[in-house]
Amino acid sequence: MAESVPAPHPHPTTTAEFAANLAAVRANITAAAQRAGRAPAEVRLLPVSKTVPEDRLRLAIEAGCHRLGENKVQEAKRKSENLAELGVEWAVIGHLQTNKAKDVAAFAAEFQALDNLRVAEALDRRLTDLGRTLEVFVQVNTSAEESKFGLPPEELAGFLRELPRFETLKVQGLMTLALFTSEADRVRECFRTLRTLRDRARADSPELIGPGELSMGMSGDYELAIEEGATCVRVGQAIFGARNTPDSQYWPPTRPQN
Ligand SMILES: *Cc1c(COP(=O)(O)O)cnc(C)c1O
Repeated sequence: MAESVPAPHPHPTTTAEFAANLAAVRANITAAAQRAGRAPAEVRLLPVSKTVPEDRLRLAIEAGCHRLGENKVQEAKRKSENLAELGVEWAVIGHLQTNKAKDVAAFAAEFQALDNLRVAEALDRRLTDLGRTLEVFVQVNTSAEESKFGLPPEELAGFLRELPRFETLKVQGLMTLALFTSEADRVRECFRTLRTLRDRARADSPELIGPGELSMGMSGDYELAIEEGATCVRVGQAIFGARNTPDSQYWPPTRPQN
């Protein structure tokens, strides 16, 4: 049974150590998928590199990371510029303010935290200018915690109906952060909520949800998430080592307005 309290994570400093961490996470992904009777290939591993400096990122890229997730736009933009020659793709997975949409439109391949129409509109405008498209996941707040970004579940269906007019945004599915707790049942409940919402959207209006992906699960809970149907897991510390930065920097205790 997967535990949702993260074990202390080793801090790799060579390409071989990164490769070993990646292999260990992939083995866990395979085992979790098999427990759930799923094909391991259905689950994409998105390594999350926030706070990791560029010299260590080069090693991780050498070890086989081709698309990296970052929570903050400024940091992602800087890394995308400084590592441009390596051909890595970038996924922005954190809350976006409207005034940063133009940056994301310029460098990101994927945005996983779409939860308001002003951001959708700003992204679409810039993407149209640039002749680009962007894969997007709609973020849902499945834990009912004030500190989490994302749409309340009851607003999802209405939100999805608004998105087709933004032709540059390619909806891939839904994303969530589970409750931060060591109680596995409560974590599982968040993942089930997301899957149920996806299933309902597929039944009601399949054209609005694209491939219907479920981005859920982080270092502490990705195995549970896979058992509950995740098709993308966002894993940072289990690959890159423990972070010193407190998570409150990414999930502020009260939710700022855009
Ligand atoms: C940092 C982050 C992750 C990964 O968290 P880890 O504990 O490092 O695995 C996943 N999703 C989002 C949105 C994040 O900001």
